[in-house]
Amino acid sequence: MRPRIALPADTLDEATNIINERNAAFAPRPAVEAIVKTGGLPIILPSIDPEDVADYLSLFDGVAFLGGADVDPTFFGEEPHVRLGKTYRKRDLFEIELLKQAVAANKAILGICRGLQLINVGLGGTLYQDLSEDPTAQLKHSQAAMGNQPSHHVTVVPGSTLATLTGDRPYVNSRHHQAIKAVAPSLRVTATADDQVIEALESKDTDQILGVQWHPENMYKHHAESRQIFQNFVDRAAARM
Ligand code: MN
Repeated sequence: MRPRIALPADTLDEATNIINERNAAFAPRPAVEAIVKTGGLPIILPSIDPEDVADYLSLFDGVAFLGGADVDPTFFGEEPHVRLGKTYRKRDLFEIELLKQAVAANKAILGICRGLQLINVGLGGTLYQDLSEDPTAQLKHSQAAMGNQPSHHVTVVPGSTLATLTGDRPYVNSRHHQAIKAVAPSLRVTATADDQVIEALESKDTDQILGVQWHPENMYKHHAESRQIFQNFVDRAAARM
């Protein structure tokens, strides 16, 4: 059997006349396809009450936290900055509980963009609510180029898992206005942009968690380094079956 990969769902929050689409749970098609193409079996998990998260745990071997709205800053002890974007507290509550239980149960974990930030907050780190809060952040991290095109380089820490997947200087896309501030105690930085904005985190002592600030699901078809991130994730999940 292929490793089962949980994708906590985003929620359609726009008003619609089609009653069955109201608050519909969905996962981005490129992420679903990247999981399938690298050998995983995707399973979309709608947000439910955190008290019920434990019932999901036996259904998957790995979990990928994907992109979406800003993380509610109350989860890292801050009031909303004037440039905070849209938030959705219900998804945050669900994903933070799912993350904690997945870590404890030794599931393989991948973070993408908001997912990287959610993992950091869930494990005790903090965020810049907007990159204007970081005085050294100078690069364009909300690219105007098409989302499947790279726009800035990152420097990867030698010896990290990420370095074995992307080499030391991948050219990546960038669609974020928030960033990692304080790194959670169990994580370490394994890539930065040239303005020192954190672009990847990994578990300190295991291969359980790898997260990137960019969107490899939009590049995996034409960018071997992005495909390798998914292949490594599905392989890590398979090793835990
Ligand atoms: Mn970036």
